[in-house]
Amino acid sequence: MNPSPLTTRRPGPTTLSADPWQTHAGSIVAIRDETPGVRSYDLSIVDAAVRARYAFAPGQFNMLYLPGIGEAAISISSDPATPQLLTHTVRAVGNVTDALAKLVVGDRIFLRGPYGKPWPLGDLAGGDLIFVAGGLGLASQRAAILDVARHRDRFGRVTILHGAKTPSGLLYPSEYAAWREAGIDVDCTVDAPEAGWTGSVGLVTDLLAQLPLEPGRSGLLCCGPDPMMAGVATGAAKRGLGPEAVWMSLERNMSCAVGQCGLCQFGPFFVCLDGPVFRYDRIEKLLGVRCL
Ligand SMILES: Cc1cc2nc3c(=O)[nH]c(=O)nc-3n(C[C@H](O)[C@H](O)[C@H](O)COP(=O)(O)OP(=O)(O)OC[C@H]3O[C@@H](n4cnc5c(N)ncnc54)[C@H](O)[C@@H]3O)c2cc1C
Repeated sequence: MNPSPLTTRRPGPTTLSADPWQTHAGSIVAIRDETPGVRSYDLSIVDAAVRARYAFAPGQFNMLYLPGIGEAAISISSDPATPQLLTHTVRAVGNVTDALAKLVVGDRIFLRGPYGKPWPLGDLAGGDLIFVAGGLGLASQRAAILDVARHRDRFGRVTILHGAKTPSGLLYPSEYAAWREAGIDVDCTVDAPEAGWTGSVGLVTDLLAQLPLEPGRSGLLCCGPDPMMAGVATGAAKRGLGPEAVWMSLERNMSCAVGQCGLCQFGPFFVCLDGPVFRYDRIEKLLGVRCL
């Protein structure tokens, strides 16, 4: 019988500190309103030596810590080529994120990380990439998109399919022109149009159904609510993209982020250590399981 992951010693995360629990003070250098209730925070780690050695891969996350309030797992959504400035795009939904929403430029946020398995961009080099993002899911993909734009020649056709409830819920719209300029197709759709919207109305799976793609050379990277990701996987399969060609970034309630507390246990996996990015064939049967 295989030992339970809870009783097996597993390698911990690789972070910038030998001690994965150590937090570092970051100063907020800019705040941008993105969509209703969502803001981006640009952070600079205060300690110059720590700032200089901080590095992350697209798809990883930090634990953001506000003393006296708590911690929250938040994807790093900035360019991995400039890790001295770390962007986190946050929806205010609870204790930590509501408190973050009250901060101003110059305030401090503490962070530890980076944690988690990144998007497999290296493995997918040479092929076509399809990013599929529902709402805030694009935040976990922005670092990968910026990385791909920087190394555009490493990939074939690159497409972003982004869906939101309304046009004002589309994330990072001011950046789409630059992404298109870099040779990335950006196609958006909304559930409910607002005045002036001339784009698609419907689900991202509708966009996927119409996308010209070559199954043998395409990798699909997906982030959004679980039902949307399950729908995308089904839609991908209809287009000939099997579960081994689909990757998903999962959000699960998380506490320690270092594989100790078990809060984010997902079947035999810990989302903090084994994810948040998983190849779909590893999690297909688990995706409908409710989290704590
Ligand atoms: C790998 C990863 C990456 C993530 N990246 C991002 C990101 O880039 N941006 C982002 O905004 N989020 C991200 N998240 C999600 C974020 O970590 C959670 O939303 C986190 O819970 C927010 O912390 P909080 O303290 O603000 O909210 P909490 O206080 O933990 O509340 C979270 C939710 O639980 C509900 N809740 C709280 N208390 C109770 C209660 N007593 N009873 C019932 N319901 C309750 C709240 O209403 C809310 O819906 C990510 C999560 C993971 C795992």
